[in-house]
Amino acid sequence: MPLPIDARKKPVDVKVYVSTGEGVAITWSDGHQSRYDFPYLRDHCPCATCNDERLRKAEDKSPSVLPLYKERVKARAAKAVGNYAIQIEFSDSHSTGIYSFDCLREICPCRDCARAFRAEAKQTTT
Ligand SMILES: [Zn+2]
Ligand SMILES: [Zn+2]
Repeated sequence: MPLPIDARKKPVDVKVYVSTGEGVAITWSDGHQSRYDFPYLRDHCPCATCNDERLRKAEDKSPSVLPLYKERVKARAAKAVGNYAIQIEFSDSHSTGIYSFDCLREICPCRDCARAFRAEAKQTTT
């Protein structure tokens, strides 16, 4: 997998706070900073299994799409995958998710990134 060409998706600083459980902090080459907590990352796990699960949930039209209660997932370990991604092993033993920086920038929880990267996707799910 090549490094992303988009400067917004190139990290200049990546910190993973496994022991404190704070999550992941990334500074991007456009100066933007992203913070992700582990439950958020777990929810957005890009592996095929979780993808299928999310698709199923998206198709399910029941109003409980947003769960109000969730067990707080932590990370047990994290490691770099080449120079394009990080892999996180979660406290629920799930570790197949490889978070490419490309994907991480797109799931940045801030409003600016939601608008820049996810506006279209949001509209189609309503
Ligand atoms: Zn997964
Ligand atoms: Zn952002």
